[in-house]
Amino acid sequence: MKSFLFNLNEFVKNYTTLSPNEYQTYINSTSIIKLPQLKFDHCNGSDSSKRGYPCTLWVLFHSMTVKQAILAEQNALPSDIKPSDVIVSIREFIGNFFLCEECVTHFVNMTINAENEIKSHHESILYLWRSHNVVNKRLRYEEYTNDPNWPKVPFPTKEQCNLCIQQIDENGDATEYNENETYKFLKEFYSLNNSMRIQTYNLILLFSIVIINILISNK
Ligand SMILES: Cc1cc2nc3c(=O)[nH]c(=O)nc-3n(C[C@H](O)[C@H](O)[C@H](O)COP(=O)(O)OP(=O)(O)OC[C@H]3O[C@@H](n4cnc5c(N)ncnc54)[C@H](O)[C@@H]3O)c2cc1C
Repeated sequence: MKSFLFNLNEFVKNYTTLSPNEYQTYINSTSIIKLPQLKFDHCNGSDSSKRGYPCTLWVLFHSMTVKQAILAEQNALPSDIKPSDVIVSIREFIGNFFLCEECVTHFVNMTINAENEIKSHHESILYLWRSHNVVNKRLRYEEYTNDPNWPKVPFPTKEQCNLCIQQIDENGDATEYNENETYKFLKEFYSLNNSMRIQTYNLILLFSIVIINILISNK
């Protein structure tokens, strides 16, 4: 490990800029420890440097706010849990463990007042949704972050939730949302039932493809 780090240090000294792919190629060519190939479903990018882990974090965080609201409706939360706790925990996690400095600074500053702003579990879902759209807007035209196959447009789009959108601009992007409808949409989109439905749908699709392939190869 020591000699690996020493060589890595020597290698990066020769560069003023280094793309994620160049960095990964160097590591793959020298490291005897091979990192497992991660496969993403919802967060699969058009290449390995796009989407992936940060995307899964967002999905996890939104699912956490939804789960907390559902538990609160079922009176299944301990009485000392406050509606802002989930956002505060997310902020703590990002502040301590997310390795992108710019992301940390921005997200922590944006949510610094969450304890005073969030008074209901309903609001914590919308709070994270609004914050994520602020990040999307900021990153929309940044070359390195963006996957051209997954443009960072305001979420949800008209196709995803027509009722959620009250106003669109000349590009068809949402500029004003109906927050009651958006709340209902987010609750459905990030509920466990929905992710299980997506998995079932994927299995049915996979099964159909396998059957079609068998039928074709038997012809
Ligand atoms: C807390 C945090 C802060 C970040 N800050 C930065 C930063 O400052 N600079 C930077 O370069 N990168 C930042 N990132 C990474 C960046 O936001 C994206 O995660 C990354 O570029 C991958 O983008 P993506 O296209 O997969 O979609 P993501 O933005 O990761 O979204 C993941 C999924 O969430 C859904 N979604 C999108 N918008 C919303 C919304 N408003 N509400 C609910 N669901 C939504 C969509 O289904 C989408 O596929 C941050 C990530 C996190 C978790």
